[in-house]
Amino acid sequence: MKWEVHKFGGASLSSPEGFPRLLEILKQRTNQANILLVVSAIGKTTNSLEMVWSGAQPQADAAKKNTELTHLNTCRVLLKSESETGLNQLLERIQSPIEATDQAYDSLVSVGEKCSSFLVVEYLNQHGLSAVLLPAEAAIRTDSTWRNAQVDRQKTKDLIRTSMHRIQQESPNAIVVTQGFLGANAHGQTTTLGREGSDYSAALFANALEANAMFIWKDVPGVMSGDPRIWAEAVKLNTLSYDDATDMAYYGASVIHPKTMLPLKEAGIPLHVKSYDAPGASGTLIGPTGEIPPVL
Ligand code: ASP
Ligand code: MG
Repeated sequence: MKWEVHKFGGASLSSPEGFPRLLEILKQRTNQANILLVVSAIGKTTNSLEMVWSGAQPQADAAKKNTELTHLNTCRVLLKSESETGLNQLLERIQSPIEATDQAYDSLVSVGEKCSSFLVVEYLNQHGLSAVLLPAEAAIRTDSTWRNAQVDRQKTKDLIRTSMHRIQQESPNAIVVTQGFLGANAHGQTTTLGREGSDYSAALFANALEANAMFIWKDVPGVMSGDPRIWAEAVKLNTLSYDDATDMAYYGASVIHPKTMLPLKEAGIPLHVKSYDAPGASGTLIGPTGEIPPVL
């Protein structure tokens, strides 16, 4: 069976109430394809962790507490009590002393995606779907430009293919869950790809797997012709070309990270941007051709 890559943003999973929808969507898709899931940090976790890293008091301590409470609450509401041990191990990293370096930023901020992917794997396994974690550090190879790491595309393609091959041998029908936004350099040190980089991560996986399709699930109906908070007349675009989607992303109009389109365009992979709240609605389909977006 071919692969589908699904990326879920932090907003969808910001509270425990968001998780059943994930199950619903995945149960439908597992009949169609093998699933690779890319998750980003839940809610505003990345912002909070940036605050922790900055060390500015009293905000840093409040952000630390808040990050712990949000994750522990999700764990307690949704998961068996055993899961808390694993989560606490990940959260411990926030408690240790933090250097003011960019390398330390990457290592600290990565805790957000590590926690969200942990919660998702546990949740799926405890609710009837088998899931395994593929740490992004084992699959996305970057240089050491901390906070804005540049991806070694060829090495990444090889790593993704080898790790997915191994996982398929060990757990043939499992949903593979990985973290967006993270990678590692050649020494295995954690790097991050730049804020909002999870869409790009998903596209790298889709490219390497020659996926049938990629889906980005968001808290909006699709790609809009403009920011609806500013332009009352903004409408959802039904289709959009890779090139127009890239242009829109660069001038900030779109909801997708600008680097996302190239790996998809190279491999001709359709990108569906869909509403997490209304999975049956059509969303926006991005491909080689599409509607001409209005000039903003
Ligand atoms: N969690 C990261 C951020 O907020 C990556 C992402 O959301 O795509 O920037
Ligand atoms: Mg995020």
